[in-house]
Parts: sequence; structure tokens; C-alpha cells
Amino acid sequence: MSIKILAQCRCGEVTFTSSAEPVMQLSCHCTDCREATQNDFSNIAFFKMNATEVAGELIPKNYVSDAGNKTQRDACASCGTFMFDTSEGFPGLMGVFSQQIEAPFVSAPQCHVWVQSKLPQTQLSAKRVQYEKGLS
Ligand SMILES: [Zn+2]
Ligand SMILES: [Zn+2]
Repeated sequence: MSIKILAQCRCGEVTFTSSAEPVMQLSCHCTDCREATQNDFSNIAFFKMNATEVAGELIPKNYVSDAGNKTQRDACASCGTFMFDTSEGFPGLMGVFSQQIEAPFVSAPQCHVWVQSKLPQTQLSAKRVQYEKGLS
């Protein structure tokens, strides 16, 4: 059975498709994600790049993670929705902000990263692994 996971930005200009389930999902509490998405934390699903296709014009924004890896986030050139997160620390993987992924996909992060930067009011599920810092 072939699957298709779809994501798009608010205006629909940027689209993402994956023919495979994500290999990893996490909740990121870092300040960069918070700034990008305006959410307290971000759920990100990582897909193998060779199973994904992206269309539409993106504006890249570059960061260096605290671990020293170059990280890039891509936003739609028209509406500014942050869509993707790629890092040197995760070669071959493309992170997609889960809130942009369409149903029936259900976000199910396995772990929390950058817990040291989380907002005081954010409650963490004790069932998930928590990392003080990032994985990359
Ligand atoms: Zn857009
Ligand atoms: Zn983050």
C-alpha cells in the first residue's frame, strides 16, 4: 500500500508530499522555532528527503544550533509560513512543521528536545523522552 503525506502553507503556494511515513517526530522547545512559528513549541516530523517532493518558492533562513550545526528553516515566499527545518545534524532528513501537515496525519512526537529553553507554562508529557538540548 502506498501512502501519501501532504503538507502546505497557509496560502497553498508551497506544497510538500512524502511517499513514506516520517522516520522521527519531536517537539522542539528552542527559541529559534518559537520565533519562527510563534507557538510555544513546535512539533516537527522528519522525513527521508529521497521520499519527498517540494514545490513552490521558499525563503531560507539560516541559524547555527547551539550544538554548532548549520540549520535552515524555509518559509513560503508569499505568506511567510515556516514549513521546513533541515540541519547538518540530520543529513538526508527534512523536518516539516507538523501543524502544516494535512489530516489524516496525526502528530505523535516521541521526544521533547531543547527542554532547557521551554516556556515555564509548557507542560511536558512524562511518557516522552526529554532532552535538555537538541539531537543535532
Ligand atoms: Zn504560502
Ligand atoms: Zn527548535
